[in-house]
Amino acid sequence: MKEYRPETLCVQAGYRPQSGESRIPQICQSTTFFYPETKKMADLFDLKGEGFFYSRLANPTVEALEKRIAALEGGVYAIGCSSGMSAILLTVMTLCHAGDNIVCAAGLYGGTHNLFSTTLPKFGITCRFFQNDATEAEIEALIDRNTRLVFAETIANPSIAVLDFEKIASVCRKNAVLFAVDNTLATPVLCRPFDFGAHLVIHATTKYMDGHAAALGGMIVDGGTFVFRGNERYADFNSPDESYHGLVYADLPVAFGTKCRAQMIRDTGAIMSPQNAFYTYLGSDTLALRMERHCTNAAATARFLAEHPKIEWIRYPSLQTDPYHTLAQKYLPKGAGGMISFGIRGGVEQCARFMEALRLITQETHIADVRSCVLHPASTTHRQLSEQALAQAGIPVNLIRLSVGIEHLDDILSDLSDALDTI
Ligand SMILES: *Cc1c(COP(=O)(O)O)cnc(C)c1O
Repeated sequence: MKEYRPETLCVQAGYRPQSGESRIPQICQSTTFFYPETKKMADLFDLKGEGFFYSRLANPTVEALEKRIAALEGGVYAIGCSSGMSAILLTVMTLCHAGDNIVCAAGLYGGTHNLFSTTLPKFGITCRFFQNDATEAEIEALIDRNTRLVFAETIANPSIAVLDFEKIASVCRKNAVLFAVDNTLATPVLCRPFDFGAHLVIHATTKYMDGHAAALGGMIVDGGTFVFRGNERYADFNSPDESYHGLVYADLPVAFGTKCRAQMIRDTGAIMSPQNAFYTYLGSDTLALRMERHCTNAAATARFLAEHPKIEWIRYPSLQTDPYHTLAQKYLPKGAGGMISFGIRGGVEQCARFMEALRLITQETHIADVRSCVLHPASTTHRQLSEQALAQAGIPVNLIRLSVGIEHLDDILSDLSDALDTI
């Protein structure tokens, strides 16, 4: 379905019924699948035939969503995971051993930062961070023979930094290293990382893809363009997998995706549930429509806040004054999504008063669904940090993260305006 536009793929890609079948995917709530012939099952175990045999590995409802997101991203294969975090972990597990390292942009979702800086090192996998505005040479200096992956987000949160795809893609090409992008906050409606040199795309479908705060989920999309064959960095892909009858993944048309499912989904069971795949499939029908409204609402809200006397600073890439404006014009021409960060004049106390005065916009540990919400990292997600440590993490105490929803713009603006009047 690659020839269709995103608006069409959102509603049509993923599942097509045969005569007399349900129009939308059914929730296939079954752990296992029946086959009368032993030979047929043996072939499935050998990856010689197509079919489902156990829902820890693959499931028809999950597959419908996988096919839809693969089509939207322009990839060749996708794997639905139990959460965005598990999608990132499974990606690392498919590529890395103890002793290997990841090179990663510092502007990063907090959960990913914890995984890379605290949890993975306990298993001998380390991470080297570069600042988002680092030069090609500075990034290249971090890559050595044990680097298996360069990782970055299209729109980083809460710094709202836009990824310089060309810079990273060039470094990865020169060093024959795989380039993975977390495209959660842009979605394939606003940006398709495969068009700019990425080899893998990862989503927390929990966010815009579902869009209704109903279901946790993650997705790994394989672009199918990375050449593993003969690449010394990826010995595992070039030698027989004894746990899979001597399969050599580099010889397959979908090397990464097959290895990830056959080994890592098999060994961890971190697959998306059929229920969550169904909710996410329904939610994604309106992804293109919703993103249009998130973008126009956020751009207008950013302009309003930028001119408000009680706002000290603001970050939103479509603003002319934003440091990422040029990159946003290049990579996010349809809009910069719904995430805004801004600083209120004052400190923790003013932030709390402002947030408690909001009537429509709610305080939540969530982003990227249809309802507008705010979070004050210094008193919630990052409250264990001192003021100094916050500054080092690039999170001023007065930073408020606003995820702009799809309500009527005037109602969003008047809620913000009334709350700012109280401080
Ligand atoms: C939320 C989020 C994740 C993690 O997703 P979960 O489904 O909560 O595990 C990863 N990356 C980004 C950019 C996110 O916003």
